[in-house]
Amino acid sequence: MNILVVNPPNKPFTNETILAEPLDVLQIATVVKERFNNVRVIDMDVNRMENNINEYLESKNVIVFVYDYQLPLHTSEAINNIFEIIKNLNRESKVIMVGKTSTYSYSKFLENGVDVVIKGIAEELINDVIENVFDKDKLNKIPNIVYKDNEKVVITKQVFMPNNYNKLPMIDREFVDISKYMETRTIITSRGCIGGCKFCTTPYYFRKWCGKSPVEVVDEIEILIKKYKAKQIIFLDDNATVDKKRMMRICNLIRKRKIKCLFGALCSIKCYDAEMLEEMYKVGFRWIHFGLESGSPKILKMMNKEMDVKRVEEIIKEVKDMGYRVRTSFILDYPGTKVEDLKKTRKLLKSIKPHELRLHYLAYRYGTPVYEENGNVINKTQYIHGNKPNIENKDLEHEIELLLKNLKKEGYEIITDNVDWMKYNNQDKEMKVAAFVPIKYGMCWYEE
Ligand code: SF4
Repeated sequence: MNILVVNPPNKPFTNETILAEPLDVLQIATVVKERFNNVRVIDMDVNRMENNINEYLESKNVIVFVYDYQLPLHTSEAINNIFEIIKNLNRESKVIMVGKTSTYSYSKFLENGVDVVIKGIAEELINDVIENVFDKDKLNKIPNIVYKDNEKVVITKQVFMPNNYNKLPMIDREFVDISKYMETRTIITSRGCIGGCKFCTTPYYFRKWCGKSPVEVVDEIEILIKKYKAKQIIFLDDNATVDKKRMMRICNLIRKRKIKCLFGALCSIKCYDAEMLEEMYKVGFRWIHFGLESGSPKILKMMNKEMDVKRVEEIIKEVKDMGYRVRTSFILDYPGTKVEDLKKTRKLLKSIKPHELRLHYLAYRYGTPVYEENGNVINKTQYIHGNKPNIENKDLEHEIELLLKNLKKEGYEIITDNVDWMKYNNQDKEMKVAAFVPIKYGMCWYEE
């Protein structure tokens, strides 16, 4: 049996200068390889493939699409493109879908030729599904899946699937040619979050936070350095600093093993701890991301984001003083946003002046409370790349223009479309960007 684990192409394609190895796809492939021999990873995004994978097919194939699992950068155009890929298959193939989007909207995927959708965390089920995908009678015994039997949709028994991320094998990056990706390497050391932001799928999908042990994390870091010559590594966890004790141990091991590398991490204000961040800085962490999302207490409350704006100001100042390059993100059109809320965001930005600023218009993701609560929103898509608000409101648009004008005045380069991020290499450490598109990881951090 020919097994392909596929990263479908982003539409539009991910900017070539920010391409990261698809860790979520590689994680699934690594698990599948534990039971099956003929396993390959096809990264259609890095290979710039449109909607055809026939050249990889043999007579009998199982194709596992890993879509929107960890890094939701996709658009509804990308979903339609997956359906095109399935329509174009010219050999006997079974298609399995894994990931958040198909978990919450499985009917759409079944209607368009997908044979089985795994609902929720997939690693513990994927090998049983592959083994039985050609035999519907046996599929019925596997929990948490959806498939079609003739025209009938079968939903099997739903069981609670714990987030046992610490039990998964270390990702095998040999499935891909690492030289095709950006030079900053990535690692995921934990999954899940203790926050409950209403626009985010993570807490509802993984339920509980779970991290790998410090030894495993540092072993993987050493592999990235020795085998893949990593000089910079980003922790792409949903929230890397949930467990202070674990992070302190990771730092301790990095020091003990005399590892020389620069690191970055995605964290949350809720899990901020000055002692931990100082320790992280000492062993090479130089870049930190905080999703702040709004400067308005009213909107933060609506988002279910437990943050005090005054405290945010203090924390960002402290972190900048420690020497970190700081990225923050904001959602400009969260439902309920009024001009006075954007003014508060503008005020907060003026005070904290992050080095990098990722500006978003809300991506309504299936399975999130904000998606459920806004059933009447017309433009409900997974759109994340664009720079157009979901609502037409001249006053808000005017306020956003003002915000951008102010940022420009303060020295930010405003980026609204794909750019060649290579030209930003080796720039001044204080260089400031505000972007409506994903920003390259690993710009402007230096060893002091
Ligand atoms: S802090 Fe980040 S990862 Fe956690 S729930 Fe909020 S948006 Fe999601």
